[in-house]
Amino acid sequence: MKVLKFGGTSVGSIENICNVKNIINDREKKIVVLSAMSGTTNQLVAITNNIARKEPDEAIAKINMLRETYDVTIDKLLINKGLNKEVKDYVSGVFSFLVSCTYKAFSKSLENNIVAQGELLSTFMFNCYLKQEGINSTLLPALNFMRIDKDKEPDISYIKQHFDSAVSAVGNSEIYITQGFICLDDNDEVSNLQRGGSDYTATIIGAAIKAEEVQIWTDIDGMHNNDPRYVENTKPISNLSFDEAAELAYFGAKILHPQTVTPIRADNIPLRLKNTMNPDAHGTLISNITSENGIKAIAAKDNIIAIKIKSARMLQAHGFLKKVFEIFETYKTSIDMITTSEVAVSLTIDDDRNLDKIIEELEKIATIEVDKNQSIVCLVGHSVVNHDDTYKLFQILQDVKIRMISYGGSKNNISLLIDTKDKINSLQKLNDYLFELVTL
Ligand code: ASP
Repeated sequence: MKVLKFGGTSVGSIENICNVKNIINDREKKIVVLSAMSGTTNQLVAITNNIARKEPDEAIAKINMLRETYDVTIDKLLINKGLNKEVKDYVSGVFSFLVSCTYKAFSKSLENNIVAQGELLSTFMFNCYLKQEGINSTLLPALNFMRIDKDKEPDISYIKQHFDSAVSAVGNSEIYITQGFICLDDNDEVSNLQRGGSDYTATIIGAAIKAEEVQIWTDIDGMHNNDPRYVENTKPISNLSFDEAAELAYFGAKILHPQTVTPIRADNIPLRLKNTMNPDAHGTLISNITSENGIKAIAAKDNIIAIKIKSARMLQAHGFLKKVFEIFETYKTSIDMITTSEVAVSLTIDDDRNLDKIIEELEKIATIEVDKNQSIVCLVGHSVVNHDDTYKLFQILQDVKIRMISYGGSKNNISLLIDTKDKINSLQKLNDYLFELVTL
């Protein structure tokens, strides 16, 4: 069986919802994972921010605006009177719940329950639309099987066990529609897999059922070789290995949630990235097949903080790095890049929640310098570190101040740390000289 996930834009307009119906309506049994309609989760987050700041009027104004969008969409999509009413009743219930939340005290649990509504709305609406179109589909509530453990990792054995009972509970169907993103936590409270987490839902389900393939349908023809938001002339990549895709997703390729590849890699379940608006395009196939050596794609990750930790004598003083790592471990902050010299270690983090406390602790053992507004530019490809292109990098970026380099950590990745203000220029230059073959 295949698992197909459709993102927010795929369910964000009548035309795209219709495209999704055509894509899935091929008489094959499948699981369809949906995101919330585009813009909905952002609005729900904004509503919870209003609640946290005790601004009920602002929250209610946003709830009313969101409701209007749904009412318009439902009237256009569901012309069958009975199904139209069924969806409107459901949606009314959701919006009454949201209004009731505006008078409650803010808590993480309230926030999680509010942001979960986007996927609950999109799946309910879409399932009724399929019924109207005579397609055999059933809602499979994600909260009946999707769960994370105390470390916020998917609880795969629970998911495997509960998935089958969730399917038996709803009965046999050609298409099962389920919510991306949402799950239960280890206390059985509503939680989620973080923003963009629907991709991750799809591959977790794919791994749990040993799917034949997982497909992620978005609004672009697969993973591009550079960031199309900032760079001209980017191109879709037809094939990527799991390792390459994981590096790109982690280091900024917005098309995939960073953890997406993890659940399916061990079982070698192929992952295909496709475009709902252009279903015939090849897209990107992510599998265990590696291709020729060389730089294949570039991604950039912003909001990086560089920390230089300078000690009088570092490497000779064994145990120094251990102490440094323990401080990051205490504050559950993961390190992305790291370089060392005899007297200093520079590293980067992207999570600044405990930065002040980390600095305070580090200052007890060393002199600290912190640089914010940094970006990691990540160059990915099979064996990039052994390829001739690699030696051109300094020439291409001769005008850019490179703050750190990570080379050789993995054969498939070279990472450069630069000031964010130099990012777009660097990405464009790398694109021109590496992929468009402009001569240096
Ligand atoms: N709706 C959630 C978000 O916008 C999850 C997702 O779309 O993948 O982040």
